[in-house]
Amino acid sequence: MRLADTAALGRAALDLLLPPHCLGCEALVAQAGRFCAACFNRLGFISEPMCRRCGAPFAHAGQGGAAHLCPACTETPPDFDRARGALRYDAHSRGLILAFKHADRPETAGALAALMARAGAALLAQAELIVPVPLHRRRLFARRYNQAALLALALGRLARRTAVPDALLRLRATAPLGEKSAAERAAEVAAAFAVRPRRAGRIAGRRVLLVDDVLTSGATANACARTLRAAGAIAVDVLVAARVPDPRLG
Ligand SMILES: [Zn+2]
Ligand SMILES: [Zn+2]
Repeated sequence: MRLADTAALGRAALDLLLPPHCLGCEALVAQAGRFCAACFNRLGFISEPMCRRCGAPFAHAGQGGAAHLCPACTETPPDFDRARGALRYDAHSRGLILAFKHADRPETAGALAALMARAGAALLAQAELIVPVPLHRRRLFARRYNQAALLALALGRLARRTAVPDALLRLRATAPLGEKSAAERAAEVAAAFAVRPRRAGRIAGRRVLLVDDVLTSGATANACARTLRAAGAIAVDVLVAARVPDPRLG
């Protein structure tokens, strides 16, 4: 028996013992790492119209004006080139991502990466290197894996791009950014990141795609983009599973 057959058989046996559940609920599904139809239909996919720069969804095409830019990008252009997200960060995607992050559900990575590959096809086509936002090693130890690194690796496999999961280092464990103002968020993440010295040669002269699970204020993505540019990256795009919509855009 070939090794692949043995592995498939092992998986089938495991599925009989532990029937696979939907990534979003307790419904049984045919294969692990899938959504049931009800959960899939609740996913809030982001589609055009959106901000050309940061991918914030618009309620209607006129919101971006002639430049197709959201108010945030008009007021303060981000440090990254473009960002795209597959899903709106809402109650449903928040549940998925929290389970992925904290409930030891690494199989979520493949499903989210497939959605991200579609939303970020233009960015992936130009990317030479995929780099995840790093976790501080203390958090990494507590959670066992960095969810952004799993997404980066899955995207690399899907798009046939090189992922370098340890290219960036988080020097400090930053406090949660949730309740902070824009200025406080920027201060919290300033100087929090560095390129791992032995990976610096991979970054210089490359178009880098930075990957994370959620884009909120953009403070983390901006800090990582500045770090990557300082190491010689010629472009930094950002691809996330879910992004928080700008409330000003309704
Ligand atoms: Zn479900
Ligand atoms: Zn924008």
